[in-house]
Amino acid sequence: MNKKIIIANLKLNGNLKYIKKYIKKLNKYINSKIYKIFIAPPILYLYFSNLIINNKNIKLVSQNIDKNFSGSYTGEISGKMLKDINTKYVIIGHSERKKYHKENNKTILKKIIATKKSNLIPIICIGENIEEYNKKKSKNICKKQIQYIIKNNNIKILKNTIIAYEPIWAIGTGKNADINHINKIHKYIIKYISSINKNIIKKIKIIYGGSINDKNICNIITNKYVDGLLIGKSSWKIKNFTKLLNIINNLK
Ligand code: PEP
Repeated sequence: MNKKIIIANLKLNGNLKYIKKYIKKLNKYINSKIYKIFIAPPILYLYFSNLIINNKNIKLVSQNIDKNFSGSYTGEISGKMLKDINTKYVIIGHSERKKYHKENNKTILKKIIATKKSNLIPIICIGENIEEYNKKKSKNICKKQIQYIIKNNNIKILKNTIIAYEPIWAIGTGKNADINHINKIHKYIIKYISSINKNIIKKIKIIYGGSINDKNICNIITNKYVDGLLIGKSSWKIKNFTKLLNIINNLK
């Protein structure tokens, strides 16, 4: 069985002392046969995190990347720099980047290209907002977001990527999507990409994100169409995150 991907997105939380404590605790969870741990600390702490991770089993994820590789782009971080410090993955298109930094399909595609060219793996976030969900447009919205990438680049760019289905209305709200909905959307993404290229889909992981907690994790992670989870709030306190990992470890 492929190991499930469990990503802790710490967002704008923590400090040097806390990240150290956090990774030390995680080091006790690295030998699971069920999951692989990914950690996305604030970018500032990626270098330090790399120094103290004592096993390749914890993968480093950047919360952002710039579309450029070098030059006059004050405040930005390039894929090559991320690669330089052993980062492996980059979250792209997160709804918070769309909301607070006005990132759109065009920027997202440029960032995916920069990520790939830097030999990093994009974690591409897609998902509908609450109005679209209520109007039963979830499938269509997800399709359009993927379609933009394919039409304006090439389906091959999706090879060896992770797609994170993150309904916007479920992020940070305490209201997760129910498993039937997740199942339906993940199956639809597989069907849509397969209809264009049957081989690429085998090289894509589809994970879910949105208000994962100790009550819903079992049901969601055990679904065969869910390759892993992107976890925000429930990962910020190491006590809560390890509780989730313990739940998965105890699955039969
Ligand atoms: C996220 O921000 O990607 C996320 C899934 O957050 P939360 O778990 O807090 O909903």
